[in-house]
Amino acid sequence: MKKLGILGSTGSIGTQTLEIVRHNQDLKVSALAAGSNVLKMEEQIREFKPRLAVMWTKEAAQELAIKVADTDTKILWGMEGLLEIAVMEEMEVLVTAIVGMIGIRPTIAAIRAGKTIALANKETLVTAGHIIMPLAAEKKVSILPVDSEHSAIFQSMHGENRERVSKILLTASGGPFRGRKREELTEIRVEDALKHPNWSMGRKITVDSATLVNKGLEVIEAKWLFGVEPEKIQVVVHPQSIIHSMVEYADGGIMAQLGMPDMKLPIQYALFYPDRRPMEGKRVDFFELSSITFERPDTDTFKGLAFAYEALRAGGSMPTVFNAANEKAVSLFLDRKIRFLEIYDLIQGAMEAHKTVADPSVEEILEAEAAAYEYIESHRRY
Ligand code: NDP
Repeated sequence: MKKLGILGSTGSIGTQTLEIVRHNQDLKVSALAAGSNVLKMEEQIREFKPRLAVMWTKEAAQELAIKVADTDTKILWGMEGLLEIAVMEEMEVLVTAIVGMIGIRPTIAAIRAGKTIALANKETLVTAGHIIMPLAAEKKVSILPVDSEHSAIFQSMHGENRERVSKILLTASGGPFRGRKREELTEIRVEDALKHPNWSMGRKITVDSATLVNKGLEVIEAKWLFGVEPEKIQVVVHPQSIIHSMVEYADGGIMAQLGMPDMKLPIQYALFYPDRRPMEGKRVDFFELSSITFERPDTDTFKGLAFAYEALRAGGSMPTVFNAANEKAVSLFLDRKIRFLEIYDLIQGAMEAHKTVADPSVEEILEAEAAAYEYIESHRRY
């Protein structure tokens, strides 16, 4: 029996993880955490009977505690609750599926406690990769990627000598606005940005896919997960999202992982690695695919990727500013308070205003985050 803790259980990755638990009798849920969705959490507690459940706010936790008073589940709230999940004795694998930098501290605590990490929360590695990866190596803890591209890279490296990797080819769908120029993006509405052509995901990451910021975050994530320098990570636009990423080796050979665009495969692969459990679902039919195509990303229009390489070049606290400025700008866009293209302007401004701190501690990362938020508060145009 493998026991899981799931941070972000009510979200897109969280609910798909629970779907996998439903189909595998040897998985058990020890703990769940969410932000404010009390109703969904109650349903999950009744179905999966975790020992511990955490809501972000005290009010949500109190409301939940009343609803599930007839169960044995203990209810906690806030960062303390997330940290308690991270170190729970019976839990073996922590699925980090919350959005944003809130995941840093629980991930570090879980690694210190020797837990395997199934990592979806890319913001954690983007901002604190220099702390998390050496700590995981020291504690001999596995960080198993859930992100489909990173899972594909991980699968393409399985059994290979990593020193022979010459290039990582990170695929990108190009998002809903692929092919458009900047002047065609001025009137983009929230509804347009939330229509991803291939993947069904949470709102923030869907907007990040439209700006190519998500691909930028993934480049930084890949650097940390696989120890590959940025110039060896090439983004290739592949609109059909069938090839989930590829790895080129020193002899010119390329290994790729293909499949339907369905997050359940990479989630399940992380939960059972190195086993490949059976899974129902549609299969790739090569006769049905009329073509698979490739393009260079348009980084002049979709600046998210260019900013990420700039943040990597500066290093230290700059990826945190890139990420935090984006988090704040996207939430303003989703609240219809800024226009789509202003997301880029605000990220650029916050990065230009920031003085990089080399090798930042967790406190310095959080300070850089706060400074980026402050910059955006004082520079947004409304
Ligand atoms: P969603 O927005 O769908 O879900 C986010 C989850 O986090 C919800 O359960 C939410 O709870 C919870 N949450 C939010 N804030 C807090 C908080 N302060 N404390 C505790 N829980 C909180 O996001 P996704 O599932 O799309 O994404 C999760 C992570 O996985 C992100 O880092 C994303 O980049 C990454 N990822 C997602 C992919 C996808 O296909 N969706 C693919 C690859 C990576 P509530 O419902 O109560 O708000």
